[in-house]
Amino acid sequence: MIIGAGIVGCALADELTARGLHDVTVLEQGPLFATGGSSSHAPGLVFATNPSKTMTEFAKYTVAKYSRLDLDGRWCFRAVGGLEAATTPQRWDDLKRKLGLARSWGVRAELVGPDECARMWPLLDSDRVLGGLYTPDDGLAKAVRAGEAQARAATARGAAFLDHHTVVGVERDGGRVRGVVTDRGAFPADVVVSAAGFWGPAIGRMAGVAVPLLPLAHQYAFTAPVEGVENPPEIEARRPLLRHQDRDLYFREHGDRIGIGSYAHRPMPVHLADVAEPGAEASEDMPSKLEFTPADFDPSWRDSVELLPALAGSTIEEGFNGVFSFTPDGMPLLGESRALRGFWLAEAVWVTHSAGAARAVAEWIAEGRPSTDVHECDVHRFEDAQLSPAYVADRGKQSFVEVYDVVHPAQPIEGPRPLRTSPFYQRERDLGAFFLEGGGWERPHWYTANAPLVRPEDEGAVHDPWAARYHSPLVCAEARATREGVALYDMTPLKRLEVSGPGALAFLQRMTTNQLDRKPGGVAYTLLLDPGGGVRSDLTVARLDEDFFQVAVSSSLDVEWLRAHLPADGSAVLRETTAGTCCIGVWGPLARDLVQPLSGDDLSHEGFGFFKARRVHIGHVPVLALRVSYVGELGWELYTGADLGLRLWDTLWEAGRGLGAVAAGRGAFNSLRLEKGYRLAGTDMTTEHDPYEAGLGFAVRLDKGDFIGREAVAAAAEREPRRRLSCLTLDDPERTAMGREPVLVDGAPAGYVTSAAYSTTLGRTVAYAWLPAEAGLPGTAVEVEYFGEPLAATVAAEPLFDPQMARIRR
Ligand code: FAD
Repeated sequence: MIIGAGIVGCALADELTARGLHDVTVLEQGPLFATGGSSSHAPGLVFATNPSKTMTEFAKYTVAKYSRLDLDGRWCFRAVGGLEAATTPQRWDDLKRKLGLARSWGVRAELVGPDECARMWPLLDSDRVLGGLYTPDDGLAKAVRAGEAQARAATARGAAFLDHHTVVGVERDGGRVRGVVTDRGAFPADVVVSAAGFWGPAIGRMAGVAVPLLPLAHQYAFTAPVEGVENPPEIEARRPLLRHQDRDLYFREHGDRIGIGSYAHRPMPVHLADVAEPGAEASEDMPSKLEFTPADFDPSWRDSVELLPALAGSTIEEGFNGVFSFTPDGMPLLGESRALRGFWLAEAVWVTHSAGAARAVAEWIAEGRPSTDVHECDVHRFEDAQLSPAYVADRGKQSFVEVYDVVHPAQPIEGPRPLRTSPFYQRERDLGAFFLEGGGWERPHWYTANAPLVRPEDEGAVHDPWAARYHSPLVCAEARATREGVALYDMTPLKRLEVSGPGALAFLQRMTTNQLDRKPGGVAYTLLLDPGGGVRSDLTVARLDEDFFQVAVSSSLDVEWLRAHLPADGSAVLRETTAGTCCIGVWGPLARDLVQPLSGDDLSHEGFGFFKARRVHIGHVPVLALRVSYVGELGWELYTGADLGLRLWDTLWEAGRGLGAVAAGRGAFNSLRLEKGYRLAGTDMTTEHDPYEAGLGFAVRLDKGDFIGREAVAAAAEREPRRRLSCLTLDDPERTAMGREPVLVDGAPAGYVTSAAYSTTLGRTVAYAWLPAEAGLPGTAVEVEYFGEPLAATVAAEPLFDPQMARIRR
């Protein structure tokens, strides 16, 4: 059962029936196929390039699919090309970065000069532009047509589309969806997908499922006929789609008129109660089309005329404020709900990504997993603190404002901040912490209190302005202090769970790849795979008692995945403890000198070995100590209750004075983990990668019994990897990279960087990158393309630092 026959619902019906699930019904409150939803009037610009590989894959599939479709001989997609114009040096630089993203994700793109921009768009004032990014395969999608064409294909395979059926209730029983109720009767169903677009939260309320999206209005206007613009009605447009992101504008031709879309105006949230009922038949009067507010458009019109002077002779003839969905992070909401099994979301999806997102959801439903990694779109990616209506509204509005902004990958959200803080927050502020935000948490990236430790060479280590924006010489100082002395890291945001009960071991064994059947006190690094053997995530599992484990996970997606697989007989229980506890990482060669005098417990290597866990006391504070290290130095993660956190911090801090202990932030942490080759799940590897090619084969024990993904991973173990997650160093110590840049082999893009950071220990930038297996061998010369410039790099044997593990195991 699919709710909504917009572009997403239609694409989903097609993708499901194509996979053999023929018993599909699509319920639509409006008429078919100009339903009155967002798709009915979307101007259909498709720009594929996106910072997210997943979103780019979705767009590429959409383009490929709609290019093949027609409706009674009329096209569904035309590749008129895309042109993003830069009018500021900042944008021009960003287009070079975007060119890199396009090349990383396999989209054809090139930078063109002002004259070429004006040749493509003769109305454009070439004196105003510095250049553009031209993407020949981008173009126009006819959303209603493509919807209908896909609906026909689905209908031919057995699907039914019912118009004027308004879903008014969702039926549930025992935590599972049983069907929906409409104004024309009830429809039983074992799987219900809400593809209701910006009505999603209303459907969510019927199902008892949080749908974190905010409907916002966005202005679109049509000029009167413009001289020099002539396109036969059947093709609509010849010139590329044009984006003027420095003014939050986009343009396309409509016959002899120009359509102008603007994100420059104030965010205009829309209350669902204010949206009209769907029209009786396809008409201009559509619920998602609100009345045009010309005053909001005036500045955009002036900016349009400035870029396209020929518009001065024209005028705005008509316009509307069109409604569509914005989420807290600007990404779609896909997946099955934790709150109601069998109830799925496919919402906050643009026309651009519609077929790709629909394919992913169809694969997920039909085959158990999408072939494209979708963790960035998963409906469970948000923390509970990110689901309040106030948060969704604040973040949704910010997503709207930032649609066309140049957004730095490390740029923190503006608000709401601070939302979540660790017990050490005030101490961190006192030390001059510079905070970034992640999962709602304030996370120190460096501390100005460490300024006296900065050396002259640290000052210029990262001088490229883009990379330096969220870097500080203090990062180098803190990294060095960790390698040479001892540092305290606030690890509180690391999510942790307790798993207990007689079935706890069997449950964790089934969920993960490594052997967890160790004596109490043993700790294991292990992987969560999906059924296809792809790496979902990694975990650290500490067995604290026969039936009691502490599990450190990467994200709320892991918690959800584990919860969803708990044994039905209640023999294993999972409890998240993150909010009530805290953690300090104490790492560095002097870590033992710091903590041993504070404890009556034996913390020697013999008394407390590597990858062991024990309950000990640090001063007055009972802690769970795990002898693990993500930075590659001797030390412990020390966990205690949030109530005792401050006392723990102060105890360590006081004792550390004589040893020169420092507080260190995420900047140093990230650099040190790359020196050690420690992968970051979701960034360095995803479900698209198997453990062996990701260099994580050591965490897979095929002989331990069955676990999720075992069959697939056993097959992967037998074959030579096609690609490898490889370690690179940039040859020129002065140059840097950030992540997501293309890696060139013999001058052509062959892979992409996942993570990169300046290494203080090595005095150069370290990057991890996916490369074809033959190119991923140590010694191979490659290039990392950074803002359009190829930087020489060499594949290195890893890990770069302490391969013998001598510093940790002592
Ligand atoms: P919709 O098309 O809104 O479909 C949802 C359907 O669910 C509707 O038909 C609705 O009637 C139905 N429904 C809702 N509640 C119920 C119920 N209770 N019972 C039964 N049926 C129900 N995207 C791009 O990619 N490129 C662009 O250039 C672009 N420009 C845009 C310009 C404007 C002005 C606007 C408003 C949007 C634009 N978008 C663009 C975004 C794009 O239009 C949407 O993201 C996309 O159309 C959403 O498709 P959908 O199928 O999820 O939603």
